[in-house]
Amino acid sequence: MRRPAAIHRTFSLVLAASLAVLATGMVAPAAAQEPIADFKPLPVQTRQFGDLAAGPYNRLVIQNVNVLPGHGGPSVGIYDILIEGNQITEMRRFDPYTPEDEWEHLEGERVIDGRGKYVMPGMINLHLHLREEPLPLDYVYYLQLATGITTLGPASDRGVDEAMTEAGRSARNELLAPRMYPLWGWGGGISGYSREQLEDPAMATEIAEKMVAAGGKQFYLNGLCWNRELFGAAARAITAAGGISAVHVQPSSLSEVNAVIAAEEGVTMIVHHYGYAESALDRTVPDYPRDYDYYDENERFRQAGKVWEEAGRNPAARARLLGEVVDRLVASGVVMQPNRATYEANRNILAAMGWPWHEKYTHQALWDMHLPNPRNHAVFHYDWTSDDEYYWTYMYNLWGELIYEFNKKGGMVVFGTDDNYQWSTGGFGNIRELQLMRETGMHSLEVLETANWNSAKLLGLGDRLGLVRPGYLADLLIVDGNPAENLRYLYPFGAIRKREDHTMYRTQGIVYTIKDGVVVNNANVMRDVAAMVAESKENAGVDVVNSPFLPVPEWMSHPVAEEEQEEGSGSQR
Ligand SMILES: [Zn+2]
Repeated sequence: MRRPAAIHRTFSLVLAASLAVLATGMVAPAAAQEPIADFKPLPVQTRQFGDLAAGPYNRLVIQNVNVLPGHGGPSVGIYDILIEGNQITEMRRFDPYTPEDEWEHLEGERVIDGRGKYVMPGMINLHLHLREEPLPLDYVYYLQLATGITTLGPASDRGVDEAMTEAGRSARNELLAPRMYPLWGWGGGISGYSREQLEDPAMATEIAEKMVAAGGKQFYLNGLCWNRELFGAAARAITAAGGISAVHVQPSSLSEVNAVIAAEEGVTMIVHHYGYAESALDRTVPDYPRDYDYYDENERFRQAGKVWEEAGRNPAARARLLGEVVDRLVASGVVMQPNRATYEANRNILAAMGWPWHEKYTHQALWDMHLPNPRNHAVFHYDWTSDDEYYWTYMYNLWGELIYEFNKKGGMVVFGTDDNYQWSTGGFGNIRELQLMRETGMHSLEVLETANWNSAKLLGLGDRLGLVRPGYLADLLIVDGNPAENLRYLYPFGAIRKREDHTMYRTQGIVYTIKDGVVVNNANVMRDVAAMVAESKENAGVDVVNSPFLPVPEWMSHPVAEEEQEEGSGSQR
């Protein structure tokens, strides 16, 4: 059962061809301009991905299923759904008062029995980190698929070229992975521009047009936050060129660009929690300790939580945050992508280090990346005190109120996780994200909509992604249980339920993820994920996080006890 990760990547008949393209040093554009979310003409050729997945089919039918439409409406049923190629072409509803043997079912070359199951649109995770070698990409992709992600915004952690090549392979279904819209920085994917040109607001239009023409879609403007004029010029130029601009507001330059300024300067989307509380203060900067150093992440993250307490404890600032700040954000049309899963470690680090899936499903390479270390990014959990956890608990509650008010007043909230960081294992973090959005007070149906139609609309694909509807792409999840009733039904290990006879059982999670008409068997995918992880842990050592919890090997047991036993007084056990 255990096999090297490399085998997973050889499904494709045309793999050799794509490698050849890579070898010539060809850069992104050719692969990039490939449509990521287009309808494929019939007839289609069905591809087999071992026992992990197969598809698309000329006629795939899901019978007898309930439907969660994806636009915030409740579930409705019972339906048969016909998928031709990668498109939903027919949904036939059965009147539940008509005897079942009179239902005229749709038929196809493959039929999935959806009895007792719920179909919802595949989810869109707009922000995920693939991290670096030796973390296998298949490991990352498989966990995304098995937790319901059919469209992904991967950060270009391994370079824009590789990200775009992978996106192209996924679009052609040569790769078992979600559709991908990689994140680019300002000036990413293009060459020939000097620093002076990249920092010249007058050049913004030309640069934005080039990046969009090179196949970019989501552009992060984090590096421009030090200059409001430049930031605004770039944001507006990207919108005009047809792209999406996004920002992780930088705590190091809030006097130039905070959340409200970013929104009013025209950025499409604000990611994470930064810059909101700061927009409500009486000052243009937070009350940094005077020896604050942005590159001391332990202090940086402490202050990022604490500033919310400062805003929240001051009645005037709190009123501004939940009033004027929300109103100006909504009026600007900016979109919020909260990313609550990755940061929750900050409010309870022991819980995050002890997630029940770490042992079986957190790859050792990822575990090692999470270990506290002042030299690496987002691993600042040393000297992380109870006070820090308090700031972040307070912060989550107030941030939740902000999200709730923003959504209530008509702002659009979209979905992203920013995994794999801070002990949040990508995949499981998707469901945590939904749970943490529910924690804000938003209705579960609204929460699911953030990951469905809202995120599709953000990508400009609201006419083909994010809904279960004829004419839409066949990106679907078949779930054991209604996710609107319990978001945890989406975990691969399901949720615990009680039978009539009071015995307990677990639901089966997302049984199938359908991406572009390809049916993914998630139980087998998770089996392979577990095998990759087991292999990665074969020679894993003891570290500062796991050592207190590892069983003590026999040879380490106290020699004193042995001596005592020989003397016949060994009754210690
Ligand atoms: Zn990120």
